[in-house]
Amino acid sequence: MIRAVEAADRARLPARPPPPPERHCASCGAPAPARAVICPACGVILAVEDTDARLRRASARLNSRIREAVMRLLRKRYAALWMMALLPFAFAPAIAALVYCSWRVLRPVPDEVAGTLAQYAVIGSVALVNLLLSYHFGMEALLLLAGWAGALSGAVESFLRNLLPSAPFQPGEPPGRIRPA
Ligand SMILES: [Zn+2]
Repeated sequence: MIRAVEAADRARLPARPPPPPERHCASCGAPAPARAVICPACGVILAVEDTDARLRRASARLNSRIREAVMRLLRKRYAALWMMALLPFAFAPAIAALVYCSWRVLRPVPDEVAGTLAQYAVIGSVALVNLLLSYHFGMEALLLLAGWAGALSGAVESFLRNLLPSAPFQPGEPPGRIRPA
């Protein structure tokens, strides 16, 4: 039964495949046969023009998508403030966020809603914590670097002293003194 239906369907199909659809030159818009390599109207290489047009479309799509994402981010009221508050070791953005948020909390505009004030308070507190942590770890890093620099200069100094043949450097002996023969 099913076989018979399938056979009937197959019999109804057109005997020849439909002719390949024409396409249009991406450069001049003239119709061109599907298998043509060169546009019969303007003579450009169709594949090159197609790829170019496709790349242009993709790039335009990507550009508009990036622009939309940036605009969406800018429209978020606190996104920039959050970024400034959270940026570590740069101090200035976090200080600016802290000052701005403190100012907004201490001098609220008359129609400011409580939720807005809470947002500013939270962002300001985060900026303050970030500043304290950045200061702490920044000082630790500086001390560490200073220690490394001291150790490195000591190593270089003893290496240079050992290069001098007449004054071999011995540990525990004042460097640079010539030992009596
Ligand atoms: Zn053309």
